[in-house]
Amino acid sequence: MKSDVVEKFKYDKNVFVAVTGKCGGCYFCANACPERAIKEWMPPTINHSLCTRCMKCVEACPREVMQIIY
Ligand code: SF4
Ligand code: SF4
Repeated sequence: MKSDVVEKFKYDKNVFVAVTGKCGGCYFCANACPERAIKEWMPPTINHSLCTRCMKCVEACPREVMQIIY
């Protein structure tokens, strides 16, 4: 995902993050999450009540399948 899109929606509680494609199971997203909001399931599952929309998981995903849904 383009960094300008990430910057636009960072900390916006009107959007959420989700896995939108073929996940490789690397869990870089979960490791990048400061809130420990991502369960290492397949696909990774986000607890939206813990999520601050910091977008670190989106930035960490090498396959760009962790995406901002808006
Ligand atoms: S970083 Fe991306 S590819 Fe890796 S586990 Fe998370 S969603 Fe899947
Ligand atoms: S946006 Fe931030 S707080 Fe939410 S799941 Fe991703 S890394 Fe964790």
